[in-house]
Amino acid sequence: MRYRQLGTHGPLVSELGYGASPLGGSYGGFAEKAGIEAVHAALDAGITFFDVAPYYGLTAAETVLGKALRGIDRDRYVLATKVGRYGDQVFDFSAGGMTRSIQDSLARLGTDHVDLIQCHDIEFGSLDQVASETIPALRAVQDAGLVRGVGITGYPLPALAYIAARAPVDTVMSYCQYTLQDRRLGACVKEFAVAGAATINASPLAMGALTSRGAPPWHPAPRGVLARCAQAAAACQERGADLAKLALQFSVTTSPCVSTVVGSASPANVRRNIAWIEEPLDDDLLACIEAILAPVRDQGWVNGRAGNQNPREH
Ligand code: NAD
Repeated sequence: MRYRQLGTHGPLVSELGYGASPLGGSYGGFAEKAGIEAVHAALDAGITFFDVAPYYGLTAAETVLGKALRGIDRDRYVLATKVGRYGDQVFDFSAGGMTRSIQDSLARLGTDHVDLIQCHDIEFGSLDQVASETIPALRAVQDAGLVRGVGITGYPLPALAYIAARAPVDTVMSYCQYTLQDRRLGACVKEFAVAGAATINASPLAMGALTSRGAPPWHPAPRGVLARCAQAAAACQERGADLAKLALQFSVTTSPCVSTVVGSASPANVRRNIAWIEEPLDDDLLACIEAILAPVRDQGWVNGRAGNQNPREH
């Protein structure tokens, strides 16, 4: 595992981060004991960066992650959570709600501070409100010592860039856009850095689409994209390979982002993921899978206030 600094003033984080949305049931049911074991497997193998949100499982993911982290030395992990999104269609980016939301998260997580607070899915709010009201409110919470850094997350890269250019943030997280199928986030890393923000790459497995199990029913990608991903999974299987392995290796080892955050509530998958990134990429397999995915390269979905196609959107 390699470690990189999360922006100019940020902490060191592992190149592979742990995404806790599966601890909220985003990908189906799981045993809480296994979820807690998955977090411990991540810590034991050198993952130091953990990302969660009150939205995941409507606070359940924070609660399970908090249980897993109880008793672990606070300096062993860098913890990121979010504000502003509290349900599929429930958003509150107003300054007034920020301190309460963060205090509630801290109580569930069992800590007195988080290292990074991120404004969650900014495209569903007014971008100008996020820049002029939410981010300054989060900076005030930072001054009060409850958080150590402030970031933004969301899907549309122009919306993230719009805010980063107007309100200084420490991090920008986007998802499904530095993968075998979509590289658009990679092209934004320099622009975000100029604005002072480190880039975090979430969902290297394209929210399950780049696995042999395939995308969950709520996946918002166009059918043509999901069909090509399924074709890629089948091609890997024919060769005795695993598309998830190739996808994870590709994102972590070639990404210009500071950290790549993958989600899992399964200890076995967490251990596999950590082992995979130490193995070399299979260049022949990569060429074959890139050819299958080429017709849908960089194809995403329209997302935002008017077009949430995914009721379980992150
Ligand atoms: P992901 O691309 O990491 O894929 C997760 C899926 O892959 C789950 O079904 C998981 O069980 C499966 N998986 C994991 N390891 C596997 C393996 N070795 N073999 C087979 N399957 C495996 O998607 P994600 O979890 O949605 O994203 C990662 C994290 O990034 C989230 O948990 C969250 O913390 C963050 N995120 C944030 C936003 C946002 O802020 N808007 C959006 C998306 C993701």
